Amino acid sequence: MANFNIDAQAANTYDAIVIGSGISGGWAAKELTGKGLRTLVLERGRDVRHVTDYPTTNMNPWEFEHRGQLTREVREANPIISKCYAFYEGSQQFFVKDAEHPYVQEKPFDWIRGYQVGGKSLMWARQTQRWSDFDFEGPARDGFAVDWPIRYADLAPWYSHVEKFAGITGNKDGLATLPDGEFLPPHEWNCVEKHFQKEVASRYKDRHVIMGRAAHITKPQPIHTAQGRAQCQHRTICERGCPFGGYFSSNASTLPWAAKTGKMTLRPNSVVHSIIYDETKGRATGVRIVDTETKQMKEYYARIIFLNAAALNSNLVLLNSTSNRFPNGLGNDSGVLGKYVAFHNYRAGISAQYDGNLDSTTDGRRPNSPYIPRFRNVYKQETDFLRGYAAGFSAGRISRSNQDAIGADLKNNLLNPELGGWYVGSHMMGETIPKETNYVALDKSQKDPFGIPQLKISIAYDDNDEKMIKDYQEQMTEMFTAAGFKNIRVRDDKRNPGLDIHEMGGARMGKDPKTSILNKWNQMHAVKNVFVTDGACMTSTSTQNPSLTYMAMSARSVDYAVKAMKKGLV
Ligand SMILES: Cc1cc2nc3c(=O)[nH]c(=O)nc-3n(C[C@H](O)[C@H](O)[C@H](O)COP(=O)(O)OP(=O)(O)OC[C@H]3O[C@@H](n4cnc5c(N)ncnc54)[C@H](O)[C@@H]3O)c2cc1C
Repeated sequence: MANFNIDAQAANTYDAIVIGSGISGGWAAKELTGKGLRTLVLERGRDVRHVTDYPTTNMNPWEFEHRGQLTREVREANPIISKCYAFYEGSQQFFVKDAEHPYVQEKPFDWIRGYQVGGKSLMWARQTQRWSDFDFEGPARDGFAVDWPIRYADLAPWYSHVEKFAGITGNKDGLATLPDGEFLPPHEWNCVEKHFQKEVASRYKDRHVIMGRAAHITKPQPIHTAQGRAQCQHRTICERGCPFGGYFSSNASTLPWAAKTGKMTLRPNSVVHSIIYDETKGRATGVRIVDTETKQMKEYYARIIFLNAAALNSNLVLLNSTSNRFPNGLGNDSGVLGKYVAFHNYRAGISAQYDGNLDSTTDGRRPNSPYIPRFRNVYKQETDFLRGYAAGFSAGRISRSNQDAIGADLKNNLLNPELGGWYVGSHMMGETIPKETNYVALDKSQKDPFGIPQLKISIAYDDNDEKMIKDYQEQMTEMFTAAGFKNIRVRDDKRNPGLDIHEMGGARMGKDPKTSILNKWNQMHAVKNVFVTDGACMTSTSTQNPSLTYMAMSARSVDYAVKAMKKGLV
């Protein structure tokens, strides 16, 4: 019997375990297997294989039962995810439905999730800007949260490492606020976007309109063809899954690459319940999972554990990993676990019309748009709110053709559309300040179907966010007016936190174990063989979309962990 147990334990033992197979977990798996470690990837959702499991990827609008629209029934059953712009008939299979995995909203929070192999990498909008020192130095300079234990120089080589493999399009703009990367050719501008860029440059020294940097292959390199990926076809239906691998997803890129090493075992349908801590050894020894098909609990063991369940779920796993040594959650000596959660403020927007360039129009589609990097409070504090915002921007022409035409009229409208004027629009991407009062915790009474406590989310905007919205509206109005745009309309859609889909923090990095959970290597201060490299690790949020930074941190952290493991340090 004893031998039988030892054999069973050996069969369930790996060099490394990765929890979650989304953007950050995919990178951890690729790097760990690439360094020769036998790696078990545990994913709570179903398997989604590249190409074969993208059922809607080649469907035309008329092939959808509801022409791509959500039915009233679906919308009424899913009031939360129906607010997400990317959720529609062609992409709905990748989103967690509202009733499937409930959580407790102590304050309103729209939690958008993708529980499947690949996580949210299948549906993301692929914007990928590097952070700069203005971001990493922010908390220390402006006196909030805690100081980041790393700076841009620590991450720069790892940004390069992940960009080359993922395939990032962009232009080298030479801006201190938004460091350049390893770019594939940039996307094209249209003439009104160029006009706005020129007008802004002529009036403001510190404001720039650049082409967005995005995870699309505009010119495949050998490293991309080796992954079986091809040039982006500009279909702009990415969130259905891309059979060309034209944009970066774990399914098209990191996971198949890891599988090719022969070192990866991928186990879908495995909800990680908790991380096992061995008090005699003073380390984590493995994880407990619930098999979603059999509902049975199983244990897996490894020397090192990477937690990549996405920010809030990683908090949940840590909070649920209790022991005599850690009664309030794994590694939570400081008591800050679950606290100082922050997000991005996407509430504000602006739109207008433009009467110029009526002899020109656009052609084709583009899976990307121009971007305005943060210009507020960069070099010094200049407003009555902390930090600032970046903004998206784009221009296009409106068709005036009869939308209800059929037959010959429809064909004629398509070939000779009657064009209206240009419209322009922008949306705000604001930084929020991490606060102790914005937190997640385990709910004391409600459990999920696997016996795991539900996550209670208590997150809200504050006065800083309200002031920032006002400033965005004023500054953008000024810039739009200067560019000659008319009928300017600002908006604040008052959306709940969460719909930005960039929640971060809860297990933040820091120099001091008394006020943070992770050190500069994303390693737990108190449990040296556990690493957290998804959004849970973030000390502050900056304004840039965060996923490229999670990728770079995952690769950097694996490099450290494997070296430390070989030296017997973890
Ligand atoms: C519509 C949309 C647009 C977006 N646009 C952008 C953008 O332009 N740029 C950008 O940077 N980011 C964007 N994001 C956010 C981006 O998708 C996330 O930042 C990124 O996917 C986070 O990576 P992750 O590995 O932390 O989490 P995910 O990619 O969500 O992966 C986490 C995985 O862990 C699994 N998991 C969770 N709990 C457990 C458990 N207990 N046990 C086992 N497995 C578990 C999940 O099923 C999931 O597969 C967007 C997201 C959406 C939905």
